[in-house]
Amino acid sequence: MARRWPWFAPGSAEVAAIVKACAQHQAVTGVSLVPQGGNTGLAVGSVPDDSGRQIVLSLTRMNAVRGIDSANLTITVEAGCILQSLQEAAEEAGLLFPLSLAAEGSCTIGGNLGTNAGGTQVVRYGNARDLCLGLEVVTAQGEIWHGLSGLRKDNTGYDLRDLFIGSEGTLGIITAATLKLYPLPAAQLTAWAAVPSMDAAVALLGLAHRHLGAGLTGFEVMGQFALSLVDKHFRQLSVPLYQDAPYCVLLENSDHESETHARTRFEHLLETAMEQSLVSDAVVSESLNQARHLWHLRESIPLAQAEEGLNIKHDISVPVSRIPEFVAQTDALLQHEIPGVRLVNFGHLGDGNLHYNVQAPEEMDANAFLRDQEDRVNVLVYDAVARFGGSISAEHGVGSLKTDKLPRYKSAVALDMMHSIKLALDPYNLMNPGRIVRV
Ligand code: ZN
Repeated sequence: MARRWPWFAPGSAEVAAIVKACAQHQAVTGVSLVPQGGNTGLAVGSVPDDSGRQIVLSLTRMNAVRGIDSANLTITVEAGCILQSLQEAAEEAGLLFPLSLAAEGSCTIGGNLGTNAGGTQVVRYGNARDLCLGLEVVTAQGEIWHGLSGLRKDNTGYDLRDLFIGSEGTLGIITAATLKLYPLPAAQLTAWAAVPSMDAAVALLGLAHRHLGAGLTGFEVMGQFALSLVDKHFRQLSVPLYQDAPYCVLLENSDHESETHARTRFEHLLETAMEQSLVSDAVVSESLNQARHLWHLRESIPLAQAEEGLNIKHDISVPVSRIPEFVAQTDALLQHEIPGVRLVNFGHLGDGNLHYNVQAPEEMDANAFLRDQEDRVNVLVYDAVARFGGSISAEHGVGSLKTDKLPRYKSAVALDMMHSIKLALDPYNLMNPGRIVRV
């Protein structure tokens, strides 16, 4: 039985009381607040600085599912709810919450919303922002904004919800959210295809959109060197088809009719792609286990890369149509500047989002490479991203890592407006200071 309306929980009142107490004592103690969920962020946005004056406010005990409204296709959960628990609660109700990413077993929905997380299903369902209909937020003044609306239409002024999503705790603290649910697909198939070039991968994406429509729920690209690291460090996983192809692609097809229907459409797509020389070889999963294995290979890339040694990470996006040219030019530029440099390139091609990571030349010490080259490599990569009309943070947020880089890549007008919003909502800079905008 669904609850009639998301109820108000005492946890939010406690968060409000903590914020109020900090605000009252801020002038004397200089204290500030750092909201934290699962602490899985990759941009150092939820870790206190070393001033000793920052209070970490963990939301992990506020993890209740407040209610599911099946007819409205919504679920209301508290910020500390672990993403996987949220997916499972939806599934128990026969519905799908599609946000999916590698850290889903420990990240929380509050953090996902705070950073506007993306992951592997964005090509079909959008990122965390697109999945959120309403929020409950504790403001920097310790007030509670009850914005838990399950409305899909509400044009009553500025969209406060979207201000807090992606604000990384700098404007207030998200304590609960109402999120969109979808019907569970009847069948889900995964294919792994070797492609002769990045151009072919982008053309295959277009073909997959046309053939599968809304059935295309995942489209990942993986460079040959990235897969060679998985093969090297996790030999037991036996990576398919990568040895003779510069890139492999992982496609997911979710079907609302049947597995047979899904397989027929998938095979037709792959046959057409082969006729057009967009795919040189492909396998389609025969079972759920096989599909999981193919996804596991993709998710093993960051782990294999860590085994290989420290590297310089970039979470970037450019328009899908410009990805092949971006990769060709930036690969060549880096190889010219740092002979022997190794590029671990993989990511969510369906969203134009690459994890374009730079690994030291084989004979070079990784620590020395990071110490001597990190700033230079960042400028080379981010300047290239800017030339192609892209973003230096696609799905991981700004955090401490990129706050000082924003002024070079974001317009002064945009930064000015962000600065004004921060001052208006958090005039005493109590909330996660030093992240996104400095005031
Ligand atoms: Zn990613």
